[in-house]
Amino acid sequence: MTDSADFGAQFAALRGQYTERLANTLDELVRRVSGQGTDIAPAILAELHASLHKLAGSGGTFGFPELSRQARVLEVTAKNWLDGGAPELVAWEAWKTDLSALQQTISMNDASGAAVAEIKLPASSLSGQREFVRIILIEGDQLVADELSKGLSQFGYEVTHCKDFAAAELLIRADPPNVLIADIMLSGQIPADSTEALSSLFERLGYRLPTVFLTKRMDFSVRLAAAQAGGGAFLAKPVDISILAGRIEMLLREREHAPFRVLIVDDDEVLAEHYRLTLEAAGMLVEKVCRPQETLAAMQSLNPDLLIIDLYMPDCKGSDLALAIRYEDMWMGLPIVYLSAEDDLNEQIKALNNGGDDFLTKPISDARLVATVRARAARARKVGDLMSQDSLTGLLKHSSIKDRLAHELERAHRQGTVMAMAMVDMDHFKRVNDTWGHPMGDQVIKTLAHLLRQRLRRQDSIGRYGGEEFAIVLPECTAEDAIHLLNDIRQRFSEIRFIHQGQSFSITLSAGVATSDQCADAQSLLAAADAALYVAKDGGRNQVRQFADDVDLSPQ
Ligand code: GH3
Ligand code: MG
Ligand code: MG
Repeated sequence: MTDSADFGAQFAALRGQYTERLANTLDELVRRVSGQGTDIAPAILAELHASLHKLAGSGGTFGFPELSRQARVLEVTAKNWLDGGAPELVAWEAWKTDLSALQQTISMNDASGAAVAEIKLPASSLSGQREFVRIILIEGDQLVADELSKGLSQFGYEVTHCKDFAAAELLIRADPPNVLIADIMLSGQIPADSTEALSSLFERLGYRLPTVFLTKRMDFSVRLAAAQAGGGAFLAKPVDISILAGRIEMLLREREHAPFRVLIVDDDEVLAEHYRLTLEAAGMLVEKVCRPQETLAAMQSLNPDLLIIDLYMPDCKGSDLALAIRYEDMWMGLPIVYLSAEDDLNEQIKALNNGGDDFLTKPISDARLVATVRARAARARKVGDLMSQDSLTGLLKHSSIKDRLAHELERAHRQGTVMAMAMVDMDHFKRVNDTWGHPMGDQVIKTLAHLLRQRLRRQDSIGRYGGEEFAIVLPECTAEDAIHLLNDIRQRFSEIRFIHQGQSFSITLSAGVATSDQCADAQSLLAAADAALYVAKDGGRNQVRQFADDVDLSPQ
């Protein structure tokens, strides 16, 4: 994984490359116009215009803001001549003089404008797979801390307890946790003490951690103090462990989404590379294409969340490229952001009409580029997720998990590996609804969803198959490993205490496991796991059973 030092070196190299190229480009421009009169051929004027347009768009990005500004003025004048006839002699001579003067702007290098340092690397976006989630709990009351630690460990979280922020800081510096849980009224202090302690801790560390505040008082001032300190969640004591686990899961998921995939189409290779590095430094997965005709092929292989298109390219206009992409149904919803030095409003409107979503004018600051791309891509992801995810649990819907199963089964058969699938169903769940009410039933369903997500690997898929029934797809996993894993989940789930109006209860689950070497297609693999689940239910529930090959799967 590239770290920030690498990025710094790459940016510097790119800036060096640009600067080196700049002197030559300007020399070439001056050479092109020397000896030219007002009868200059339109083709040559068009080339000059294109070069100036590029300089105006890229100068600021590489630390030459004055070059950008002056090139822009020259570009606009050239465009007027192209559109409206030959230049006047006086204006032409003045333009040529200004063009020669562009070289002086090279010395006005202001590298601070090339704001690489603006981008702080969020540690989580570069972190790898989640295996163990580590939590630091700051809680003054030993009894409360013990109970929370025990409850959270049932979800597979590793909890370290300390009594104040000073102790927490030492632990965090030694090994940063994934989440912080803090009592906002630590030892009866006023909330501001905790929130200020947290803010200054984050300042000293140079990064923030997702934080859950716990409180005995839910009044507005405490709530506000938590929000001002940037708390990601705020929960009343005594804490319901399943709700706390849900909030933790939510905070982790916000940070752990797979990196946004972005494709950049820009004919200016050095500039495209700068954008690519900028977005990659912000944790995204980015590819660039410098020839528009290669766009569709690159999209097929990258499957981007967002497309950035330069509006002016020699072979094709960005707005036409956008339209051509929208001919494909599958790219109908893809956000397209135009990047261009164009500041002509009519051209921008036309570009947006052709299926673009946003417009960024070059030179654009790195921070703005990152912010715009991130916001657009996040929204597109969210819409996509809503289509495929169950609203109660955030897990895949019935049809999506079946698609995933078919995909993984086909892959396992093709690669000669073994994958497992499990059907999980809660035992006597109807009684939960009948005894504790439907909302409590929902809470139990959500809790199992969190537990499954917490215990499974990144590459595994979990779907809500029916009401309180879950389907799990485990690529590259033997029956033995799957049974071991499901038994661990079964055990942990049975130990979770649910609390309803002061009374507590627990519930168990049963599971059936089958593997890809037992079945030819997804339908029979599902049926096999289901048959094994039935055996588990029949055998007294609260157990995991494996599909036996001699069971008849044909419909009764
Ligand atoms: P078994 O051990 O045989 O699985 O018994 P069970 O009671 O769990 O089985 P059954 O499938 O008969 O009942 C499932 C119940 O789950 C029926 C339905 O009312 C309830 N249910 C389904 N979806 C939801 C939901 O979204 N929320 C709640 N609260 N209950 C649900
Ligand atoms: Mg059930
Ligand atoms: Mg059921």
